[in-house]
Amino acid sequence: MKDFLTLPALELAGMLAAGELTSLELTQACLDRIHAVDRRVGAFLFVDDDGALAAARRVDAERAAGRPLHRLAGVPVAIKDNMVSRGQPTTCASKILEGWRPPYDATVVTRLREAGLPIVGKTNMDEFAMGSSTEHSAFKPTHNPWSLDRIPGGSSGGSAAAVGAFMVPLALGSDTGGSIRQPAAVTGTVGAKPTYGAVSRYGLVAMASSLDQIGPFARTVRDAAALQELIGGHDPLDSTSLDSPVPPLEDIAAQSARRELPLEGLRIGVVGELSGEGYQEGVLAAFDAAVERMRELGAQIVEVSCPSLDYALAAYYLIMPAEVSSNLARFDGMRYGIRVEPKEGPVTAETVMAATRGAGFGDEVKRRIILGTHVLSSGYYDAYYGSAQKVRTLVQRDFDAAFGEVDAIVSPTSPVTAFPLGSKLDDPLAMYLLDVTTIPANLAGIPGISLPCGLAGDGLPVGLQVLAPAHADDVMYRIAGAVEAGLGEPLASSCPAATWEERA
Ligand code: GLN
Repeated sequence: MKDFLTLPALELAGMLAAGELTSLELTQACLDRIHAVDRRVGAFLFVDDDGALAAARRVDAERAAGRPLHRLAGVPVAIKDNMVSRGQPTTCASKILEGWRPPYDATVVTRLREAGLPIVGKTNMDEFAMGSSTEHSAFKPTHNPWSLDRIPGGSSGGSAAAVGAFMVPLALGSDTGGSIRQPAAVTGTVGAKPTYGAVSRYGLVAMASSLDQIGPFARTVRDAAALQELIGGHDPLDSTSLDSPVPPLEDIAAQSARRELPLEGLRIGVVGELSGEGYQEGVLAAFDAAVERMRELGAQIVEVSCPSLDYALAAYYLIMPAEVSSNLARFDGMRYGIRVEPKEGPVTAETVMAATRGAGFGDEVKRRIILGTHVLSSGYYDAYYGSAQKVRTLVQRDFDAAFGEVDAIVSPTSPVTAFPLGSKLDDPLAMYLLDVTTIPANLAGIPGISLPCGLAGDGLPVGLQVLAPAHADDVMYRIAGAVEAGLGEPLASSCPAATWEERA
């Protein structure tokens, strides 16, 4: 591996700007790394050598011609396979979309291309983003670069593992109930879910539209801030896109890391409902140490209570499948991907649809479609879906009240470190329970980031989650930047993948 692959994206960008490295060299190094180690990790579903190298050559030529470039121009990026990219396969890790090549780019992809970031490929995920381990991919599991027999988190496990194993400095994921923050936590990387609407969802294959949000993966808070700044901002193609300017997130993260924006005077809340029973001891120990560090750095630590968070998980697992059942109705065997005819009997729209969906969707997707259809059915709608929406309002009110007292809230990102592959596959409820820490932010639409805060006793990374009020992504990056600097060298650089022997 080329030494520079362990550097943060912004340092690489600095080297590109200074002429110490070309985007072609950097992009080739990333591709070489992918071809040397991804057979072990399984982070990618598709690698676009030609497209990435062509983009790198273009940006090198523009730089040579003296054109003004985006500060991340030339830095390679990977994209979760549920964001459409013109001409490249986009499968959502589902058999039902095998062979489909979208005719257009998602807005985030357009922004990356316009800024000159070579897209090296599409990353593995749980099918249609449903899961917390990437084991629900129809194609292959992804392995955690810290320990190859462990899960990389999910559903954006491919993006997290690609960044964690130094295959690429930046990646995009999507977060409906934690799918950016939890994989970031268990792979020792940084991942952020922006405020709902802060990043366009146009071209993101929808899972649960009122919860979905695209966000960055990186190895430092500043890099994540820079990538969110690039992809964020209003998009007329997404009706839920916020029409407000993007704050200078990277600058804020950098200033707080240099202590120009100190933690002094900030009130940081610790929520009783987000720790305790069910949390791994080593996770709580690393979390407590991080809170202590924030106190030393001058933050005022305040205990806050959000009683309705106890019901957030249940509400999510009603609202999310309801939206899933509606969103996935479009996969009908006519419009996209595969088409399967029934083995016997008449070939009608209904029978083709049933045969296609039966063959194309995996078990977890089917489970959620059935659940969602049930909770929306007449007779059950009020009891399940209606009640869940009320709980959602209570969760939002609890956060509103809490943010009246504190500037931000912190918690462990995940109650446990990366668990062994296969260990929770036959117990869906056990897997769902692990989302307890991340789901509230999606229900409330508030921003959340996970950054590494040390290792648990098992030697695996622990994530610290920072939640801020809606539209206060700048506060979230300010606190995350200060904590990261206060904790010392970012953990991602000590991932054992740095010393792997490379074999093609
Ligand atoms: N793990 C959660 C789920 O299975 C979250 C998924 C996501 O954020 N896409 O629904």
